Amino acid sequence: MKNKVFDWRARQSWLASIQHYADDLLRPSIQSWIAHNRPKCWSDDMSWLPDSEDVVPEFVSRFATYYGYFKGFHGCRPLTLSSYYEQGLVGQDSAELFATFREIFSDVPRDKVDRVIEEFADRGLRERGAIWFVGDDASLIEDCGHYAIQGSEFLMALAAALCGPDAGEDYRFRLRQHGVPTILEVDMPASFVPPEQRNEVAAMVLSAWGQSVARRPLGLEVEPCYVVRRDIPPDCIKSHYHPQRIRDPHQGFRTYQNPAVTCDVCG
Ligand SMILES: [Zn+2]
Repeated sequence: MKNKVFDWRARQSWLASIQHYADDLLRPSIQSWIAHNRPKCWSDDMSWLPDSEDVVPEFVSRFATYYGYFKGFHGCRPLTLSSYYEQGLVGQDSAELFATFREIFSDVPRDKVDRVIEEFADRGLRERGAIWFVGDDASLIEDCGHYAIQGSEFLMALAAALCGPDAGEDYRFRLRQHGVPTILEVDMPASFVPPEQRNEVAAMVLSAWGQSVARRPLGLEVEPCYVVRRDIPPDCIKSHYHPQRIRDPHQGFRTYQNPAVTCDVCG
Protein backbone atom coordinates (compact mmCIF):
# COMPACT_ATOMS: atom_id res chain seq x y z
CA MET A 1 0.00 0.00 0.00
CA LYS A 2 2.88 2.31 0.81
CA ASN A 3 3.54 3.16 -2.84
CA LYS A 4 0.28 5.10 -3.23
CA VAL A 5 0.77 8.74 -4.16
CA PHE A 6 -1.66 11.32 -2.86
CA ASP A 7 -2.32 13.81 -5.67
CA TRP A 8 -4.66 16.62 -4.60
CA ARG A 9 -5.63 17.30 -8.23
CA ALA A 10 -7.06 13.78 -8.66
CA ARG A 11 -10.15 14.42 -6.57
CA GLN A 12 -12.33 11.68 -8.08
CA SER A 13 -9.59 9.15 -7.56
CA TRP A 14 -8.89 9.95 -3.88
CA LEU A 15 -12.60 10.14 -3.13
CA ALA A 16 -13.06 6.71 -4.69
CA SER A 17 -10.04 5.31 -2.79
CA ILE A 18 -11.64 6.04 0.58
CA GLN A 19 -13.53 2.77 0.22
CA HIS A 20 -10.22 0.90 0.27
CA TYR A 21 -9.18 2.11 3.71
CA ALA A 22 -12.18 3.57 5.51
CA ASP A 23 -15.31 1.87 4.18
CA ASP A 24 -16.17 0.26 7.51
CA LEU A 25 -15.36 3.45 9.40
CA LEU A 26 -17.63 5.77 7.38
CA ARG A 27 -20.37 3.20 7.72
CA PRO A 28 -23.83 3.29 6.08
CA SER A 29 -25.52 4.70 9.21
CA ILE A 30 -23.13 7.70 9.18
CA GLN A 31 -23.58 8.16 5.46
CA SER A 32 -27.35 8.13 5.62
CA TRP A 33 -27.34 10.56 8.55
CA ILE A 34 -25.20 13.02 6.51
CA ALA A 35 -27.24 12.47 3.34
CA HIS A 36 -30.43 13.17 5.28
CA ASN A 37 -29.30 16.12 7.42
CA ARG A 38 -26.99 17.68 4.84
CA PRO A 39 -24.68 19.48 7.32
CA LYS A 40 -21.95 21.87 6.25
CA CYS A 41 -18.94 19.58 6.19
CA TRP A 42 -16.03 21.83 7.16
CA SER A 43 -12.49 20.52 7.37
CA ASP A 44 -11.48 22.57 10.42
CA ASP A 45 -14.58 21.78 12.50
CA MET A 46 -15.66 18.17 12.29
CA SER A 47 -18.72 18.46 14.49
CA TRP A 48 -20.86 17.66 11.41
CA LEU A 49 -19.59 14.07 11.53
CA PRO A 50 -21.42 11.64 13.84
CA ASP A 51 -19.02 10.15 16.43
CA SER A 52 -16.37 12.53 15.17
CA GLU A 53 -14.19 12.19 18.27
CA ASP A 54 -13.61 8.51 17.40
CA VAL A 55 -13.99 8.56 13.63
CA VAL A 56 -11.69 11.49 12.80
CA PRO A 57 -8.50 10.24 14.51
CA GLU A 58 -9.03 6.77 13.10
CA PHE A 59 -9.61 8.17 9.59
CA VAL A 60 -6.49 10.34 9.85
CA SER A 61 -4.41 7.37 10.90
CA ARG A 62 -5.72 5.14 8.10
CA PHE A 63 -5.15 7.92 5.55
CA ALA A 64 -1.54 8.19 6.73
CA THR A 65 -1.05 4.42 6.36
CA TYR A 66 -2.65 4.27 2.93
CA TYR A 67 -0.59 6.98 1.21
CA GLY A 68 3.17 6.52 1.05
CA TYR A 69 3.84 9.68 -0.96
CA PHE A 70 2.50 13.18 -1.41
CA LYS A 71 2.68 14.93 -4.74
CA GLY A 72 3.76 18.53 -4.43
CA PHE A 73 4.66 21.29 -6.86
CA HIS A 74 7.41 23.81 -6.35
CA GLY A 75 7.61 27.06 -8.31
CA CYS A 76 11.07 28.48 -8.84
CA ARG A 77 13.33 30.37 -11.21
CA PRO A 78 16.67 28.56 -11.08
CA LEU A 79 19.69 29.41 -13.20
CA THR A 80 20.10 25.75 -14.16
CA LEU A 81 17.97 22.65 -13.63
CA SER A 82 20.72 20.06 -13.75
CA SER A 83 21.65 20.62 -10.10
CA TYR A 84 18.14 19.58 -9.08
CA TYR A 85 18.48 16.33 -11.00
CA GLU A 86 21.93 15.69 -9.55
CA GLN A 87 21.53 16.86 -5.95
CA GLY A 88 17.78 17.09 -5.50
CA LEU A 89 16.07 20.07 -3.90
CA VAL A 90 18.14 21.56 -1.16
CA GLY A 91 16.38 23.43 1.61
CA GLN A 92 16.59 27.19 1.77
CA ASP A 93 20.10 28.35 2.53
CA SER A 94 20.25 32.04 3.37
CA ALA A 95 24.03 32.26 2.92
CA GLU A 96 23.64 31.16 -0.68
CA LEU A 97 20.69 33.50 -1.24
CA PHE A 98 22.60 36.43 0.27
CA ALA A 99 25.46 35.68 -2.15
CA THR A 100 23.07 35.64 -5.14
CA PHE A 101 21.51 38.85 -3.84
CA ARG A 102 24.92 40.56 -3.68
CA GLU A 103 25.68 39.41 -7.21
CA ILE A 104 22.42 40.62 -8.75
CA PHE A 105 22.63 43.98 -6.97
CA SER A 106 26.39 44.52 -7.19
CA ASP A 107 25.80 48.01 -8.64
CA VAL A 108 23.82 49.17 -5.56
CA PRO A 109 25.92 50.85 -2.80
CA ARG A 110 27.36 48.12 -0.64
CA ASP A 111 26.26 49.56 2.72
CA LYS A 112 22.62 49.45 1.56
CA VAL A 113 22.95 45.81 0.57
CA ASP A 114 24.69 44.99 3.87
CA ARG A 115 21.94 46.66 5.86
CA VAL A 116 19.23 44.59 4.17
CA ILE A 117 21.18 41.37 4.72
CA GLU A 118 21.56 42.22 8.39
CA GLU A 119 17.83 42.91 8.67
CA PHE A 120 17.02 39.48 7.23
CA ALA A 121 19.51 37.42 9.23
CA ASP A 122 16.83 36.21 11.67
CA ARG A 123 14.39 35.26 8.96
CA GLY A 124 17.20 33.39 7.22
CA LEU A 125 17.72 31.29 10.34
CA ARG A 126 14.02 30.76 10.87
CA GLU A 127 13.42 29.49 7.34
CA ARG A 128 16.65 27.55 7.10
CA GLY A 129 16.22 24.25 5.29
CA ALA A 130 12.57 24.81 4.36
CA ILE A 131 11.09 24.05 0.93
CA TRP A 132 7.56 25.06 0.01
CA PHE A 133 5.17 22.95 -2.09
CA VAL A 134 1.54 23.24 -3.12
CA GLY A 135 -0.82 20.41 -4.00
CA ASP A 136 -1.87 21.79 -7.39
CA ASP A 137 0.45 23.22 -10.03
CA ALA A 138 -2.39 25.31 -11.49
CA SER A 139 -2.16 27.64 -8.50
CA LEU A 140 1.53 28.31 -9.26
CA ILE A 141 0.44 29.63 -12.65
CA GLU A 142 -2.91 31.23 -11.82
CA ASP A 143 -2.68 32.57 -8.25
CA CYS A 144 0.90 32.70 -7.04
CA GLY A 145 2.87 33.01 -10.23
CA HIS A 146 5.52 35.14 -8.58
CA TYR A 147 7.52 32.05 -7.53
CA ALA A 148 8.08 31.03 -11.14
CA ILE A 149 8.30 34.60 -12.44
CA GLN A 150 10.67 35.99 -9.83
CA GLY A 151 11.93 32.97 -7.94
CA SER A 152 12.65 32.68 -4.26
CA GLU A 153 10.30 34.50 -1.93
CA PHE A 154 13.28 35.25 0.29
CA LEU A 155 15.17 36.91 -2.58
CA MET A 156 12.03 38.84 -3.44
CA ALA A 157 11.73 40.10 0.11
CA LEU A 158 15.38 41.15 0.08
CA ALA A 159 14.91 42.99 -3.22
CA ALA A 160 11.76 44.69 -1.92
CA ALA A 161 13.60 45.82 1.22
CA LEU A 162 16.37 47.27 -0.91
CA CYS A 163 13.92 49.57 -2.67
CA GLY A 164 13.92 52.79 -0.71
CA PRO A 165 12.13 55.99 -1.69
CA ASP A 166 15.21 56.98 -3.71
CA ALA A 167 15.82 53.68 -5.48
CA GLY A 168 14.15 54.80 -8.69
CA GLU A 169 13.69 51.16 -9.63
CA ASP A 170 11.55 48.32 -8.29
CA TYR A 171 14.39 45.92 -7.66
CA ARG A 172 12.07 42.93 -7.52
CA PHE A 173 11.66 43.13 -11.28
CA ARG A 174 15.38 42.66 -11.75
CA LEU A 175 15.00 39.07 -10.51
CA ARG A 176 13.11 38.44 -13.75
CA GLN A 177 16.30 38.69 -15.74
CA HIS A 178 17.86 35.64 -14.12
CA GLY A 179 16.97 31.97 -14.43
CA VAL A 180 14.20 29.95 -16.04
CA PRO A 181 10.60 29.99 -14.73
CA THR A 182 10.00 26.41 -13.67
CA ILE A 183 7.44 24.17 -12.01
CA LEU A 184 8.87 21.04 -10.42
CA GLU A 185 6.70 18.01 -9.76
CA VAL A 186 7.85 16.05 -6.74
CA ASP A 187 6.57 12.86 -5.08
CA MET A 188 7.88 13.08 -1.54
CA PRO A 189 7.78 10.26 0.96
CA ALA A 190 5.02 10.84 3.49
CA SER A 191 7.59 10.92 6.29
CA PHE A 192 9.03 14.15 4.80
CA VAL A 193 5.72 15.97 5.36
CA PRO A 194 5.20 17.19 8.95
CA PRO A 195 2.44 15.12 10.64
CA GLU A 196 0.23 18.15 11.29
CA GLN A 197 0.20 18.94 7.56
CA ARG A 198 -0.63 15.33 6.69
CA ASN A 199 -3.46 15.40 9.23
CA GLU A 200 -4.76 18.60 7.71
CA VAL A 201 -4.89 16.97 4.27
CA ALA A 202 -6.70 13.96 5.73
CA ALA A 203 -9.25 16.35 7.23
CA MET A 204 -9.66 18.05 3.84
CA VAL A 205 -10.30 14.66 2.22
CA LEU A 206 -12.85 13.78 4.88
CA SER A 207 -14.51 17.16 4.43
CA ALA A 208 -14.70 16.67 0.64
CA TRP A 209 -16.21 13.22 1.20
CA GLY A 210 -18.79 14.72 3.58
CA GLN A 211 -19.67 17.46 1.12
CA SER A 212 -20.29 14.93 -1.63
CA VAL A 213 -22.44 12.70 0.60
CA ALA A 214 -24.38 15.74 1.84
CA ARG A 215 -24.61 17.05 -1.75
CA ARG A 216 -23.67 20.40 -0.31
CA PRO A 217 -20.43 21.78 -1.78
CA LEU A 218 -19.00 24.57 0.36
CA GLY A 219 -17.14 26.07 -2.57
CA LEU A 220 -14.07 26.86 -0.51
CA GLU A 221 -11.37 24.97 -2.26
CA VAL A 222 -8.13 25.54 -0.46
CA GLU A 223 -5.34 23.31 -1.66
CA PRO A 224 -2.82 21.70 0.64
CA CYS A 225 0.51 23.35 1.22
CA TYR A 226 3.53 21.35 2.33
CA VAL A 227 6.49 22.95 4.05
CA VAL A 228 9.25 20.37 4.12
CA ARG A 229 12.28 20.92 6.29
CA ARG A 230 14.72 18.54 4.72
CA ASP A 231 16.44 18.06 1.40
CA ILE A 232 14.54 16.19 -1.29
CA PRO A 233 16.61 13.52 -3.09
CA PRO A 234 16.74 13.66 -6.91
CA ASP A 235 14.71 10.48 -7.41
CA CYS A 236 11.67 12.24 -5.91
CA ILE A 237 11.59 14.68 -8.84
CA LYS A 238 9.06 13.27 -11.28
CA SER A 239 9.08 16.01 -13.91
CA HIS A 240 9.41 19.70 -14.53
CA TYR A 241 8.09 22.16 -17.04
CA HIS A 242 8.34 25.82 -17.94
CA PRO A 243 4.90 27.40 -18.27
CA GLN A 244 4.55 29.61 -21.31
CA ARG A 245 2.09 32.02 -19.73
CA ILE A 246 1.82 32.85 -16.03
CA ARG A 247 -0.57 35.23 -14.30
CA ASP A 248 1.53 37.90 -12.63
CA PRO A 249 0.30 38.84 -9.14
CA HIS A 250 2.77 41.73 -8.98
CA GLN A 251 1.31 43.31 -12.10
CA GLY A 252 -2.40 43.11 -11.48
CA PHE A 253 -2.54 39.48 -12.66
CA ARG A 254 -1.66 40.45 -16.21
CA THR A 255 -0.28 37.58 -18.27
CA TYR A 256 3.47 37.20 -18.07
CA GLN A 257 4.96 35.70 -21.22
CA ASN A 258 7.79 33.42 -20.25
CA PRO A 259 10.78 34.14 -22.50
CA ALA A 260 12.57 30.90 -21.51
CA VAL A 261 10.55 27.74 -22.09
CA THR A 262 13.46 25.32 -22.18
CA CYS A 263 16.41 24.78 -19.86
CA ASP A 264 19.75 23.01 -19.70
CA VAL A 265 17.96 19.72 -18.95
CA CYS A 266 15.04 19.73 -21.41
CA GLY A 267 16.37 22.18 -23.99
ZN1 LIG B 1 13.50 22.32 -18.54
